[in-house]
Amino acid sequence: MAVSKTFPAEDIEKFALAGQQSFGENYLQEAVKKITQLAESPNCPALQWHFIGPIQSNKTREIAEHFDWVHSVDRLKIAQRLSAQRPQSKPDLQVLIQVNTSGEDSKSGVQPKEAFQLAQEISKLPGLKLRGFMTIPSNTLDNALLRQEFLSCKHLLDELRASGLDEADTLSMGMSADLELAIECGSTCVRVGSALFGSRT
Ligand SMILES: *Cc1c(COP(=O)(O)O)cnc(C)c1O
Repeated sequence: MAVSKTFPAEDIEKFALAGQQSFGENYLQEAVKKITQLAESPNCPALQWHFIGPIQSNKTREIAEHFDWVHSVDRLKIAQRLSAQRPQSKPDLQVLIQVNTSGEDSKSGVQPKEAFQLAQEISKLPGLKLRGFMTIPSNTLDNALLRQEFLSCKHLLDELRASGLDEADTLSMGMSADLELAIECGSTCVRVGSALFGSRT
């Protein structure tokens, strides 16, 4: 998935014309503007939009109305609001639970030991389809630590699938700097920004 935050719709259009279909955004107002603009573009195919930023309760309606995927759900209340606010005319919103695998206080995400329970609850909500987990690991060059954090997320998905939730098939892990390692650890969706678009100012 291409992370297009801070880059204009014109840049996204170039990637779309080259065949890239999935784009990730963090900032809601910026994203909605680009989504609306590109939906009207005659030479831009239908795109898949992923919300990957922190979610405040008062932002859920716009996320439910404009996005195809959300990677950053980390509490039941947010999932319940997305469920209630997903327009019936749209397919289910594809949901990933963000897991705080690094244990750092500054990181959002549910604690790994609470993720399984939260996944069970979210999987029952109408209008949503629980597809797996997302993590942002420690900001470190220590590959052993990164591997441990990625694998803890992978184990959560294995556990969820073993419990019978086989629609859960997605692990969103890896960014420009660590995508190879993330794929080795089972990632099915890397979130690549600067390696595609250049550095953000
Ligand atoms: C910005 C961002 C990315 C992309 O990071 P790069 O290092 O530019 O590839 C991926 N995931 C999330 C959640 C982000 O906020």
